[in-house]
Amino acid sequence: MGKEVIIVVDMLRGFLEKGHPLYCGSESRMIIPNVVSLLNNKKDAEIIYVCDSHEENDREFKMFPKHCVKGSVESEIIDELKPFKGTVIPKTRYSGFYNTLLEDILKKINPDKVTVVGVCTDICVMHTVADLRNRDYSVEVPVNCVSSFDADNHRFALKHMEKVLGAKLV
Ligand SMILES: [Zn+2]
Repeated sequence: MGKEVIIVVDMLRGFLEKGHPLYCGSESRMIIPNVVSLLNNKKDAEIIYVCDSHEENDREFKMFPKHCVKGSVESEIIDELKPFKGTVIPKTRYSGFYNTLLEDILKKINPDKVTVVGVCTDICVMHTVADLRNRDYSVEVPVNCVSSFDADNHRFALKHMEKVLGAKLV
């Protein structure tokens, strides 16, 4: 059995808990138990959390309301995932690769498969999957473990990741 990495994208309080400016909605909370059971079922996989962690004046706030500032409650991983230890990689853009150590960490692990879960399907999940596929990693996306505040974009992103990027939907 080859090595598997599970990349958990932005499963943060700012996106998955009500009351924060970029809360993804109750639909998105439905993936939480699915992600928990996936992680329970794959005890041998290495977990990497890629997490929005912005500076106060990040340029991304010209497009989106201010969210997940470094050190804020919003930037914390949700409690449900606390039992699952992993490497935490702060990021400031959609792709988990941009200006982070993800590239080096993956090279060291050299996984046979990378599973990607989290939010939002059409934004950080899709851009991270694209950058994984550009590096020829074999990628799986469990459909019940990704979500977006925008249902149309969610469906588009799944199709795009499968048909264009060559990820396997499971
Ligand atoms: Zn952000």
